[in-house]
Amino acid sequence: MEEPVPSFLLRADLSVLLKLLLDDGHQLHGPQVRDHAIVYSSITSIADLPSGYQDQQKPGYYHLDSDQNTRLFHWANGPQALKPLLYPAREVLWQAKRDANGAIQFIIPEQSIPKVAVIGVKSCDLAALKLQDKHFLEGEYVDPGYQARRKGLFLVAVNCSYAADTCFCVSTGDGPSAESGFDLALTELNEGFLIQVGSEKGLSVMDRLPLIDATQAQLTTAYEQGKAVKEMQTRRLAPISVGQLNNQREHPQWQDIAERCLACGNCTMVCPTCFCHHQSDELVMKGDESQHIREWDSCFGESHGELAGFQVRDSIKTRYQQWMIHKLDSWQEQYDRSGCTGCGRCMSWCPAEIDFVAEANTIGGADDE
Ligand code: SF4
Ligand code: SF4
Repeated sequence: MEEPVPSFLLRADLSVLLKLLLDDGHQLHGPQVRDHAIVYSSITSIADLPSGYQDQQKPGYYHLDSDQNTRLFHWANGPQALKPLLYPAREVLWQAKRDANGAIQFIIPEQSIPKVAVIGVKSCDLAALKLQDKHFLEGEYVDPGYQARRKGLFLVAVNCSYAADTCFCVSTGDGPSAESGFDLALTELNEGFLIQVGSEKGLSVMDRLPLIDATQAQLTTAYEQGKAVKEMQTRRLAPISVGQLNNQREHPQWQDIAERCLACGNCTMVCPTCFCHHQSDELVMKGDESQHIREWDSCFGESHGELAGFQVRDSIKTRYQQWMIHKLDSWQEQYDRSGCTGCGRCMSWCPAEIDFVAEANTIGGADDE
């Protein structure tokens, strides 16, 4: 049987895709430029997308250039992934109220959770989403808030046409093209988008789009573009087996890192797979009601290492070990793969310019090979 000809959406018709998603009851989320960075937030039209922008990144550095091209997705990433959308930085898990008779009631606050369509999801962030799904949905306990938000999510991926200096998804096996986990995936060319379907939901939207057959020239350009973006990635995380970093706790590089690391926690905040949090109760002023809050936390915080009155990570060195060994080494036992999808954010947003990949390669022994 002959393969069907891939479909193409003209640039001017991207607005039709957005309108269909809106008509189907989704709120639209997409990349836009805010505070000199690309962030994901509500959008209403194509005009909100970051036309002509490109990011320059290296450890401790993020800068956006406007290069006047017509591309909407010709950039690598910004400080966020999908994490804040599904796992908010602060959430009320339950409320406790004392009624007129003095009895305490526990109430789960009702939330109206909209269906959200996200435009422009990169492959490393789809991989991170799969990891967060494992953690929040596939373990012994399901997180109801995450589950409700995840259920209404429609994902339009965009295959990368550009890699920043910090990107290394090729070496983690998570990019630069999206292979699964999306509803629709786009490959942006100058005149429009090759479009690929990834789910039944995606198919029902695709069927209503004004598509044309892709030309052979467009398919060749898309192939060359994918090949070029792979070659653009020179940074490479060497494979790490379970125990490889954990068995190197006495390596002198840990102390070297500890003398530079500020323990600010930025790396863990921007990491799309980190999920550490703390929980606390906040009393409402009149005294008969409290809220149980969950907030993002970081393994770099002092309080995060306090267990039953003991500090189990009493130095920056041990906190950095916790971050890197869990992420790259013991995570594999917990979730069947490393916790790193190669997005590079933990390097760009590190004020101490710590190069996570170079440090891991040194401690793991890749530099000795
Ligand atoms: S560890 Fe760094 S590069 Fe890996 S997923 Fe987290 S932020 Fe991205
Ligand atoms: S590695 Fe960088 S971002 Fe992470 S805690 Fe240390 S200084 Fe902050």
